[in-house]
Order: sequence, then C-alpha cells, then structure tokens
Amino acid sequence: MQHVTLNNGLTMPQLGFGVWQVPDDEARAAVATALETGYRSIDTARVYDNERGTGRALAESGIAREELFVTTKLWNDEQGYDSTLKAFDASLDRLGLDYVDLYLIHWPCPGQDAYVESWKAMERIHAEGRARSIGVSNFTEQTLDRLVAETDVVPVLNQIELHPYFSQGAMRAVNARHGLLTEAWSPLGQGKGLLEDPELTALGEKHGRSAAQVVLRWHLQLGNVVIPKSVTPSRIRENFDVFGFELSAEDMDRVSALDRGGRIGSDPATVG
Ligand code: NAD
Repeated sequence: MQHVTLNNGLTMPQLGFGVWQVPDDEARAAVATALETGYRSIDTARVYDNERGTGRALAESGIAREELFVTTKLWNDEQGYDSTLKAFDASLDRLGLDYVDLYLIHWPCPGQDAYVESWKAMERIHAEGRARSIGVSNFTEQTLDRLVAETDVVPVLNQIELHPYFSQGAMRAVNARHGLLTEAWSPLGQGKGLLEDPELTALGEKHGRSAAQVVLRWHLQLGNVVIPKSVTPSRIRENFDVFGFELSAEDMDRVSALDRGGRIGSDPATVG
C-alpha cells in the first residue's frame, strides 16, 4: 500500500474503500472483505446510514486502531457550529470509535452559508484530537478560497467527483495551490459506461489488467487519493490489486484524453 502525506504531517493510504449506497446490514460484510483484502482506509458518511455496520466490521476485524484510517462526513442539514459538534458526537457513537482519522464537510452548500461556522466547530474537534485531520468535500474554488481566508486550519484534502470522463484539472490545481490533496469520489465513474470505454479496455488488454484497474492506476499516478466502492468480493480484491503495474506517460495521456467535462453527480454550486 502506498501512503500520501497530508499538509499536517500525518499520512493516509492512497487507496481506500468507499461505502456509499451500501445498506448498513451489508456494510459490515463489505467492509470485512475489504479489511481482509488489505484495505485500511474506509470512507463513510452520516448520510450513507451505514456508520454502525462499518464500525462493527472495524471492531470485529481485530486490526489495531492505529492501522486503520476512518473517514466520515458532516451532512448538509447538520451544518452550523453547535449542530456540527452534536453531529460529530453522534457519528463517533455510531462508529463505536473515540476518534476518526478524517472528518469532512460533505458539501459546502453555499446557499446555507454555514460552512465557515461548521469549519470552526471542526477546528475545535481537531484541537481536541477527536478528528486527527479535517477536510472538505465538493468545495469549489470560491468556497475553498473563502474557507481558507476566514479560518485557521487548512483542510488536508478536498474530496471531489473525479474520473477519466471528468478529470477536474482546474479544481486539482486549486486544491494544490492551497496545499490540499485531491481525493476522487466515484473514481470508476460509478461503473456506468466508463469501464466499457474501448480506450480503457484496450489499455487493460495491453497490461493484462481490467479497465477498472487501469482507471485506478491512472488516479494513483496522478497523485489522487482514491476510494472505489464495490460489494462484490472479487471486485473488492481486483480494485486493490493495482500496485503491480505502471502506466507509461503515453498511457496516462490516453486516459486523460477521455475527459468530457461532464459530471455524473450533483453540482456543488447548487446543492443546499
Ligand atoms: P465508484 O466510481 O467507486 O463505482 C462503484 C461502482 O462501480 C460499483 O457499484 C460497481 O457497479 C462498479 N465497480 C466497482 N468495481 C468494479 C470493477 N472492478 N469492475 C467493474 N465494475 C466495478 O462509485 P461511488 O461509490 O459513487 O464512489 C466511491 C466512493 O466515493 C463512495 O462509495 C463514497 O465513499 C465516495 N463518494 C463521495 C461522494 C461525496 O459527495 N463526497 C459522492 C459519491 C461518492
């Protein structure tokens, strides 16, 4: 496993396991399979409604807490100073943990105008050591610039939609300008269409790998943190087996050339 160093000096695995759309009772088995495979970073959120199942799998794994990297997120309707503190306590309780490794604001929700206050609560949680690192998700240039200007702790990363059809060059540069890592959500484009793209299939054949593995390799070589999701054990293992081959500069360009500039998910400017 490769690790990346955050702007606060801590490290995290560059490849993790996402559990969006995994029901709570299935999360336990999926996370258990991921941990058996070797994943140590798990990405959940309050709104995924599977913090309990995730926490149970973490506890049952017998893996030492310091070897695990657990991320959860503040949901939109919980933004605000006091409500963030309360939401964090509830997430920690459902996970059965006494700290998380990373706590994220899930969406900036500029219409609510509460992300700066929420961040100040997250700075307090961070100072108390209950979130080892704090970060953001779905932040745009405008919302990230304002957050950094008006608060003390710079987020460690920005988790954004990013896959070969939406490669987010401009936003990756904004994150880098502020010293944040970029974490890719829906890194496989949710599996829809992208993984059947002839260019990716051809690159897979060239390397004796699947299209999904080529895409994950592209992310890793770009420097993205990446959190693919699957509930299928063979795919969970396949998505982890991406450290034994390398894409050439030309292969990387072929994948990057697939960018269509189109999102699958919501536009952060309009959510909330
Ligand atoms: P993804 O890009 O990881 O795709 C997952 C889907 O791809 C699976 O359901 C499956 O259908 C398919 N798939 C997975 N592995 C495959 C393989 N090896 N071969 C063929 N098909 C395969 O999509 P995602 O779940 O949307 O994103 C990953 C994680 O990112 C989520 O689970 C969640 O943790 C996070 N996320 C965050 C946000 C946010 O707003 N912060 C939004 C969406 C997702």
